[in-house]
Amino acid sequence: MTAMMKAAVLHALKTPLKIEQVPVPEPGPGDLLIKVTACGICHSDLHAVDGDWTPPPVIPLIPGHEVAGRVAKLGSGVTGFSIGDHVGVPWMYSACGTCEFCLAGMETICKSAEATGYSKPGGYAEYMVAPAAFVGRLPDDADPYALAPILCAGVTTYRGLKRTGARPGQWVTIVGVGGLGHIAIQYAKAMGLRVAAVDVSNDKLELAKSLGAEVVVNGAETDAPAAIQEKIGGSHAAVVTAVATKAFEQAILMLRPAGTVVYIGLPGGKSDEIRTTISAITNWELSVRGSNVGTRQDLNEAIDFAARGLVKATIRTVGLDEINGVFDEMRKGRIVGRAVLKLA
Ligand code: NAD
Ligand code: ZN
Ligand code: ZN
Repeated sequence: MTAMMKAAVLHALKTPLKIEQVPVPEPGPGDLLIKVTACGICHSDLHAVDGDWTPPPVIPLIPGHEVAGRVAKLGSGVTGFSIGDHVGVPWMYSACGTCEFCLAGMETICKSAEATGYSKPGGYAEYMVAPAAFVGRLPDDADPYALAPILCAGVTTYRGLKRTGARPGQWVTIVGVGGLGHIAIQYAKAMGLRVAAVDVSNDKLELAKSLGAEVVVNGAETDAPAAIQEKIGGSHAAVVTAVATKAFEQAILMLRPAGTVVYIGLPGGKSDEIRTTISAITNWELSVRGSNVGTRQDLNEAIDFAARGLVKATIRTVGLDEINGVFDEMRKGRIVGRAVLKLA
């Protein structure tokens, strides 16, 4: 008889996930079967459900790419892992390993990459399969619920901050203090940067202050770029983890001359365009860069910061059957920190 497991499944874009019994997947050659303990709920999962991006996800879909769990079974040929090992699965399910980008250490932009919980089944389930070569190793004694968000929100903001080129003592402005942004503040502090934070909700700004942001600005109440220019003389760097296009436009204007803004957020769909001022970019020699999740090495480093207690997600655990309610809260921007599914 086929073993069955509980999973949250998307059957059509823009519809609620259904909690169902589905077969436990079999690990193929090189794969691990993972018993999922925790899975963070990233805004990218909501974009997948809402069909915000092109191409759309592979349906039926089990979302989820902030996974912490234990190895339950080894596929053929797997070495270096044992049953019970503590592991994490990120968005980057796999990359080809042979294209010009993979060879240059930029597997984050491999065109043949597969995405966990988007093109492959993810962690909104009791079990999932992932290639051993792309799975992160977690400290055996680490709290899986607090660590799960590091698998996406952590590694993504860690890499994004590095891509700003900001040096210790310089200012970085984190625009959007959601699941990603509240973790970005902590990596920035750990890197020796000074932090300003912008959001449209005072709850999020309170969290930002408690995590070490020296300056906070409510973009719904004030002209955020003017406030950042006035309070800190413009930011050496900015990292945008918001979902509203306005935030991406504003972030450019928060920079001081020679500053760099890194875009991480992905509004997608019809709102995927910005208007900006060419003269500001040209005259001030500004840089606008993108950043897409992180390499396996970025992931190892990001986990290490968390393992040493320098970064800790603010979480609330929820059951699998609460997922559609969490998505509704996320659409309204009401989640402070990260909601994490408790699967075991
Ligand atoms: P979230 O919903 O937890 O947080 C979004 C935050 O943006 C909220 O705090 C909200 O209040 C704030 N916000 C909304 N409008 C704003 C505005 N005008 N100015 C400032 N802040 C504003 O979402 P999340 O899980 O942190 O994800 C954020 C975005 O990052 C999503 O689009 C997600 O898909 C994307 N993402 C990208 C990558 C990548 O590799 N590039 C990885 C993970 C997530
Ligand atoms: Zn994510
Ligand atoms: Zn490749």
